[in-house]
Amino acid sequence: MQLSQVKGIGLNSEKYLNELGIYTAEDLIEYYPFKYEILENTDPKTIKDGDKVVIGGICENKPNVFHFNRKLNKMSFRLNTGDFITNVTIFNRAFLKTKIDIGTVLTVVGKYDQKHNLITASNLKFGILTKPEITPVYHASFKINSSKIAKFIDSALKTTKVKSLIPNYLSEKYHFISKEEAVKIVHHPNSKQELDKALTVLKYEEIFEFMFKIEHLKNLKQKEGGIQRNLDITKIDEFINNLPFKLTEDQLKATKEISEDMMSSYRMNRLLQGDVGSGKTIVAVISLYLNYLSGYQGALMAPTEILAQQHYNTITKLLPNLNIVLLTGKLKSKEKREAKELISSGKANIIIGTHALISEDVTYQNLGLVITDEQHRFGVNQRSNLRNKGKSPDILYMSATPIPRTYALTLYGDMDITSIKTMPKGRKPVKTYLKSEKQITEVLYMMLDEIKKGHQIYIVAPLVEKSDKIDLENVYKLEEKFTKAFGKICKIGLMHGKLSNDEKDQVMNDFKEGKTKILISTTVIEVGVDVPKATMIIIFDSYRFGLSALHQLRGRVGRNDLDSYCILISDRETKRLEVLTKTNDGFKISEEDFKIRGGGEIFGLRQSGDMNFKLADIKNDYNMLVKVKEDAEEFIKSKKYLEPENREITEKLCGNKGLD
Ligand code: ADP
Ligand code: MG
Repeated sequence: MQLSQVKGIGLNSEKYLNELGIYTAEDLIEYYPFKYEILENTDPKTIKDGDKVVIGGICENKPNVFHFNRKLNKMSFRLNTGDFITNVTIFNRAFLKTKIDIGTVLTVVGKYDQKHNLITASNLKFGILTKPEITPVYHASFKINSSKIAKFIDSALKTTKVKSLIPNYLSEKYHFISKEEAVKIVHHPNSKQELDKALTVLKYEEIFEFMFKIEHLKNLKQKEGGIQRNLDITKIDEFINNLPFKLTEDQLKATKEISEDMMSSYRMNRLLQGDVGSGKTIVAVISLYLNYLSGYQGALMAPTEILAQQHYNTITKLLPNLNIVLLTGKLKSKEKREAKELISSGKANIIIGTHALISEDVTYQNLGLVITDEQHRFGVNQRSNLRNKGKSPDILYMSATPIPRTYALTLYGDMDITSIKTMPKGRKPVKTYLKSEKQITEVLYMMLDEIKKGHQIYIVAPLVEKSDKIDLENVYKLEEKFTKAFGKICKIGLMHGKLSNDEKDQVMNDFKEGKTKILISTTVIEVGVDVPKATMIIIFDSYRFGLSALHQLRGRVGRNDLDSYCILISDRETKRLEVLTKTNDGFKISEEDFKIRGGGEIFGLRQSGDMNFKLADIKNDYNMLVKVKEDAEEFIKSKKYLEPENREITEKLCGNKGLD
């Protein structure tokens, strides 16, 4: 059902909901709260000065209202709680004056000041709380707040059909409540127990969807033959020997595994994971070259324009005799048309681009290999789309977010995995320091040293939610501060999520070319971008990030033999952050992350496509994950997924592409 058909949603609201990723009424009712506020009576005996209290009582007098000005007013009254009498003040509720009188029963929420025997209330409700009140909180934006979203959801709940993706026999096996009920409960829980039951069902469902897709892909993979290639491998050896550097042992091993896959009669479906800076790109280039030598076109897909451009430059240099084509959304339509023509005629040997590469209107002559860089940005759905391009090309996914092996086996069950663990020789570990806010002057001097050497600096301000206004203010404040300090000696760039893609590219390019020496940014700075002169990254409020996310950010520097620095600024969670000052090993760090924070944070920047479950967490819900994996496997193996009663579910899970 369309959003506009939901009662109460007008054109503007529809637009704001779209910005939150909500496009249909179904999306809306599956827009689950990210937390709950629990309102529970405070035990009067435990109240101390400064406590936050929730307390019910009877109003003892007619409220007093004082108007400071048109915008500010204050209402005061006395409240008898049965245990004691206290004064209450609340701001800007003058409009309630007529509704409150001697004897009115009220619950106030606020802070208790013992000296003045006063509760400064932030909220006020009529009546007494007879049981804890649980209010869902939704990720909101500054155009549309959480309670408005809640209202729309209620409205949508009345008219929208809820469809479960869990097959009946599994629902019965686990005695699940119906999805319809579960959805209602998560938006309106009456008790913690009830909520837990509902969450279990909804988590199960989203994991089932994911696992089904993985198992389905795996199933397809086992059945499927790939391209059989004939090739004189000495040409590859020659290429490797002529590289400006010596490949590391792990790079050689990865190259070997990939070429064996490609030469075999099976279709390759491999994940190459390796820490930031471990040199995955060159492995990709070798694979593309091998693919070319055996007579096929190859495609390399990057998550952003900038990264695509960077790969294009690198690969053009390494393979000067090949016809390499760049295809991104940014090209003018004429250029796009030309690129597509080169691709479909087979003149293009290697095609590099963003996911424009797998859009419907790009036809390949004979696609033999597809590589995706920074795979964690591509969801399991895109994995399926990829497979359907060309005639079963080999597929290689690259990821700089190593995840512990057990999790990898579960979450990437449809792929083979190769890991690069060693770093290229001569790479100096990024020196990492943890500093408190007070030590900022020290940091400024360190920055000055780098700038004097002609080096460049990233400054990162955290962004928790994409629509968080405060964070944007943070970036501007930082800009002001650093302009004061360095504005006279160098140019400073500013990057945040509110910029258009073109603007972002411009800012990034200015930095890449050294026009700006300092780049202040929210976490939108690109993964994988190489700026050789950037030797320092400063991350404010570091405690807000997962360790892996910080490690990824740190990977923006230290990409060559220059000394480089990462400065984590935080007054909180310093113990956790210390891990980063001690190791540069991404695998170790991700293990730590798992131990401490759980899987949802492993991709910290919250930009990953497939592992970003709405409710489930791959660490805390790991047991469920394993169980669901078995269930999904059995659902497919037993062919239950083809039975009529499950047809609707299966069709939904497979999308409109059908089953095979
Ligand atoms: P990532 O794995 O993060 O994608 P890249 O492939 O971008 O890393 O490599 C990072 C840098 O290391 C690049 O500048 C690349 O040229 C360089 N590099 C890669 N392999 C080696 C090697 N074996 N020896 C020296 N430098 C290398
Ligand atoms: Mg890379």
